[in-house]
Amino acid sequence: MDYDHFFNAALDTLHQERRYRVFVTLEKDAARFPHATRQTPTGTSDVVIWCSNDYLGMSMHPDTIGAMVDTARQMGVGAGGTRNISGTSGPIVALERALADLHRKESALVFTSGYVSNETGIATLAKLLPDCLLLSDEWNHNSMIQGVRRSGAEKAVFRHNDLEHLEDLLKAAGRERPKMIVFESVYSMDGDVSPIHAVCDLADKYNALTYIDEVHAVGIYGERGGGYSEEVGAQDRLDIIEATLAKGFGCIGGYLAAKSSIIDAVRSNAHGFIFTTALPPAVAAAAAASVTHLMNSNTERLAQRKQVQRTKEVLVKAGLPVRKNPTHIVPVIIGDAERTKLASDLLLDDHGIYVQPINYPTVPRGTERLRITPTPFHSDELIDQLADALVAVWGKLGLPLHAPQEDA
Ligand code: PMP
Repeated sequence: MDYDHFFNAALDTLHQERRYRVFVTLEKDAARFPHATRQTPTGTSDVVIWCSNDYLGMSMHPDTIGAMVDTARQMGVGAGGTRNISGTSGPIVALERALADLHRKESALVFTSGYVSNETGIATLAKLLPDCLLLSDEWNHNSMIQGVRRSGAEKAVFRHNDLEHLEDLLKAAGRERPKMIVFESVYSMDGDVSPIHAVCDLADKYNALTYIDEVHAVGIYGERGGGYSEEVGAQDRLDIIEATLAKGFGCIGGYLAAKSSIIDAVRSNAHGFIFTTALPPAVAAAAAASVTHLMNSNTERLAQRKQVQRTKEVLVKAGLPVRKNPTHIVPVIIGDAERTKLASDLLLDDHGIYVQPINYPTVPRGTERLRITPTPFHSDELIDQLADALVAVWGKLGLPLHAPQEDA
C-alpha cells in the first residue's frame, strides 16, 4: 500500500504556507558562546546565536559540566530503568530535594522534560479530582493544552490574563466543585507576565487550586532563581509549580513542586512518570549543580538583565518594532510568515546571526516574529552588530522602521 501521497500533501501544505521547518546545524563551543560553528553542505562558518533558551548559559557553566562528567564516569550515562525499576538514583533524589527547597514546597518530582511534566501532571491531577473543572489561559503552552485534553476533564478557557473572565467562569462553577486554574508566569512569545497574586486571590475566593508553569522564569527571576512567583512573593500562595531544567538551568528535564500529598499522588498515578526511563543520574547531578549555583549567585541574573535592557534600548532606538514587556524576551514583530522566514535567512546568510523565525501555530497569524533572547554572554558590541544587521535586513525587505520610542 502506498501512503506517500498523504505525507507529500502535508509537506506541500507546509511549503505553501511557508511553515516548512529547516533546522540549522550548529556546533556550540562552550568556551566561545554565543559564537558557534554552522555546518552547511559546502563548509562551515561562524555564527552568533541570538535565540537560545539556555537563557543564562548554564549549559556551559563549569559546575554543571563538571557535575555531569564526573557523575557519568561514576554512574554511566543511562538511568537503567523507570523510577520504580532501578531508575531512582542519589542524584535524582538530591535534585528533587533542591527543587522543593527552591520553591519552598514540601516535595518535588522530576520528569524527563517540561513538556511531559505538564502533559502528564495536569492530566493526572485533574483525574484525581472528581468532576474537576480546568480553567486554562488561552495562551497556555501546547504541553498544558495537551494535559488538559488528556485529563478528559471539562475545560473552560479564559481570555489571556483576563481576571474578569476568569472570575465569571469560577463563579459559574460554584465554590463546591473541584477546580484548578492552569496558567503561566512568563509567556514565552510576548514575554508578558501573569497577575499571579490576583489569580491567587480569585482561587482563594472561589476555592480553586492553582497550577503555574514557570518554565521561562526559573533560574532567572527571584532572589534565589525561584521564578516569577518568587520575584513577586507569591510562591507560598501557589499550589503546584511546574518548570523545566532545560532553559534557565541549562540541562534537560521538568518537574512539579507542591505539598507532599499532591506529589505523592502524582508519583503513583502519572503514566508519563511511571512508564518511562528516569533521567540519567549525570543529568540530574548537572541540574542540581545548576539549581544550587543559581540559588546562591545573582551574578548571571544581573548580567543577563543588563544585556537584555541594553538590547531593548538599542533596537528600539534603531526604530525596530520591539514588543514591550518586563522580561528577558525581546520579540521583534514582522507580521507575516514569508518575510519572517526571509529575515531569518538574511540574518544568517549575510550577517552570521542566528534567530529562528517564529510562525503560526506557535504565535497567531499576523504576529509572526523574531524572538531574541540576550544572555549574559552577549557583549555590547554583539548587541550593536545585531541592531545594524536587523536595520539592514529591514531595509532589504522594505519593512517599516518606526519612530524611536523612549520606554523600551
Ligand atoms: N512550558 C512552556 C511554557 C514552554 O515554552 C515549554 C517549551 N518551550 C515547555 C513547557 C516544555 O518544556 P521542555 O522544553 O522542558 O519540554
